[in-house]
Amino acid sequence: MANLKNIPPIDEILAQRPVLEMIEKHNRDFVVRIIRKAVEDTRQELRSSQNDLEREQIMGLVIEKMRQTAAAQSQGSLKRVINGTGVVLHTNLGRAPLGERALHYMSEMARNYNNLEMNLEKGQRGSRYDHVEDLLRELTGAEAALVVNNNAAAVLLGLSTLADQREVIVSRGQLVEIGGAFRIPEVMKLSGARLVEVGTTNKTYISDFAAAINENTALLFAAHTSNYKIIGFTAEVELAELVRLGQEKGIAVMQDLGSGILYRSPSWKLGEEPTVQECLAAGTDIITFSGDKLLGGPQAGIIIGKKVYIEAMKKNQLTRALRVDKLTIAALEGTLLEYLNGKPDQNIPVIRMLEYSLEDLEERAEKLYMTLETRIRTHKYIEKLSLIRLDDMVGGGAYPTYLVPGYGLEIRFKGISLENAAQRLRLMNRL
Ligand SMILES: *Cc1c(COP(=O)(O)O)cnc(C)c1O
Repeated sequence: MANLKNIPPIDEILAQRPVLEMIEKHNRDFVVRIIRKAVEDTRQELRSSQNDLEREQIMGLVIEKMRQTAAAQSQGSLKRVINGTGVVLHTNLGRAPLGERALHYMSEMARNYNNLEMNLEKGQRGSRYDHVEDLLRELTGAEAALVVNNNAAAVLLGLSTLADQREVIVSRGQLVEIGGAFRIPEVMKLSGARLVEVGTTNKTYISDFAAAINENTALLFAAHTSNYKIIGFTAEVELAELVRLGQEKGIAVMQDLGSGILYRSPSWKLGEEPTVQECLAAGTDIITFSGDKLLGGPQAGIIIGKKVYIEAMKKNQLTRALRVDKLTIAALEGTLLEYLNGKPDQNIPVIRMLEYSLEDLEERAEKLYMTLETRIRTHKYIEKLSLIRLDDMVGGGAYPTYLVPGYGLEIRFKGISLENAAQRLRLMNRL
């Protein structure tokens, strides 16, 4: 066992030049904390070591450990990553990256005071919700709009406001679960609404809805089957049919659209999902969707629809608990303005990425291939790198069965397990 007595005391470590420099850069408490940890780690190491180290060598060891800890702790836990999954909207990788306009607004409003809740014209208290409400009305044609923390919150707020202790009719084919434990039946329970399931998993008819309506029915509910498709022997109720029934019986129709699309470009090949405007035009009374899915903005839950319902939601105490902050409002406003008077197909990153042609993607993949090829060709664990044709996915609860034709890099490893190789790739921060 090495001589533990040679470990220098804290006072002596604190007087070393590199440590004094650390105190200059950070603060003293932090440096003392990392000294204690470095000393403890060194002690453990020496206990199991055969070598007898000089005091000076041990000092060097301690300071090196301190450097490592200081470097590790100067970085936050949240890191930029390269999305190599082929899924454009990846919930585990932060969903939509923001566009420049959203980023600019967000940093301006974060850095400075702003009129979040101040009506500058009247000099009176204003509402934080006003900033995006007009934009959303203009873009969708809705009478009113409200923005909350996320789409799960939007659904919860809608149900709690309009259907507390009353019945909500949903097709059995649409009892959706979204990753991260958002389940329609659970959200219903939490909101106080009573779920009335109708139809079967594969077939639901409008007559099933009609038969379930009674004096306690508050809403007819449609959920977008974001992450699955029921195929084969199926029947789904058309939105227009549901709206017709609702209007006939005087019952509102609420739709959880999941990933709301505001814009469909002419070259867009992803045709089968309805836009927010189309759903609204079909007569839906309340629509909710996410801000950070295909919209390409910040995390938010957007609610649009008839004024009477939205006004009631604004008065619900839950709204205060689910409210969005100035950063979200700023980023959302920046994103929506891009739709209103900008070029969403060029300036909203998720849309731009989905707009790439197969040739664009091949060119980009080739560039990446060239960069990597020269650098890792001789790596001991790499056998072969090749450019391949493959299919990508939209992700984020949209187009579950649609594959986006694209290109990728295939890496063949040698002398290392795939798990290990994947972990190395995840933890790597430079080539
Ligand atoms: C994604 C999704 C949700 C949850 O939205 P968040 O913004 O993540 O809270 C709810 N319903 C549907 C249908 C979805 O696709």
